[in-house]
Amino acid sequence: MSVYKARAVRVALVLSLVSVAGPPARAAVPARSASTVPVPVQGGVMPVTAAPSLTPGPAHYRPVVLGHRAFPVARSNYLSFLRILNSWHAPRLRLVAGEWRLVGVHEGIDIGAETGAPVVSMTSGVIENVGWTFYSGQRVGVRGDDGAYYLYAHLSSVWSGIVVGSGVTPGRLLGRVGSTGYGSEGHRDEFPPHLHFGVQHGGEWTNPYPLLVSLYTEAVTRQGAAQRALDALAASGDTEAWRAAADRLYLGLAPPPGE
Ligand SMILES: [Zn+2]
Repeated sequence: MSVYKARAVRVALVLSLVSVAGPPARAAVPARSASTVPVPVQGGVMPVTAAPSLTPGPAHYRPVVLGHRAFPVARSNYLSFLRILNSWHAPRLRLVAGEWRLVGVHEGIDIGAETGAPVVSMTSGVIENVGWTFYSGQRVGVRGDDGAYYLYAHLSSVWSGIVVGSGVTPGRLLGRVGSTGYGSEGHRDEFPPHLHFGVQHGGEWTNPYPLLVSLYTEAVTRQGAAQRALDALAASGDTEAWRAAADRLYLGLAPPPGE
C-alpha cells in the first residue's frame, strides 16, 4: 500500500467527504424545428462570467470568476465530477526504512477529478514556480496579487504558456490534473488523480477549504441557472435562440494560443 493510499484510507475513515459536484449539464435538443423568428435572449441565460482563456475543446463547464477568484478545476466534459476532500491537516504517513512514520500533516485541500481535467488559476498573479518537487510532482506556484502563494500540485502536464514570470488572471489555464509526485521526476500513480491546492499567507499554509466550497457551490448554482434558462429555450421550440445560447454557454470560448 502506498503512502498516499494508507493516508487515504485513514482520511476516508476519519474525515468527512464532501461532494459538491452538480448534476451533469446537458443541453436538450428542441422538440420542434427551427423557428423563423429569433427571440432576443434577455439576461439570465448567461449569468456566469466566463474566463476567456480556458478551452478544453467544447467547454461543458467554464470556470466561473466570482469576486476575482475562480475555482481551480474545470470539468473536462459534461459527465465530469469533482470532489473536494476536506483533508486539511490530515496526518501524512510515509514508509521510511520499513516503518510507517508520521512525517507531517496535509497542508492543502485535494480536489478529485479525472486526469486531464483543466487546472486554472484561482487568482491574478505571477508564475513563481514551475517544475518538479518530490511530494508535489509537477506543480505550478502563483504569487497572487494579494501577496499569497497559490500551489497547484500533481499535474499531469503544464500548459506551455506557463513559465516563471508570466502573468495570469483568474480562470487562466495552468495545466491538467494528474497523479505525479511522491518520487523522482516523472513518478506518478501513487494515488488517484487529483489537484492538490495550497494557499500560503505570510509563509504559513492556510486552509482553503471554505473558500473552495463557496466558489464551487456558487459556480454550480450559476451553471444550473444558465442550464435551466437554456432548457426553457429548448422547450419553447425556438431553435435559433437555443442554438445561440448553447453556443455562448458551452462552445463560445476561443482556444488560447498553443492549445
Ligand atoms: Zn494534497
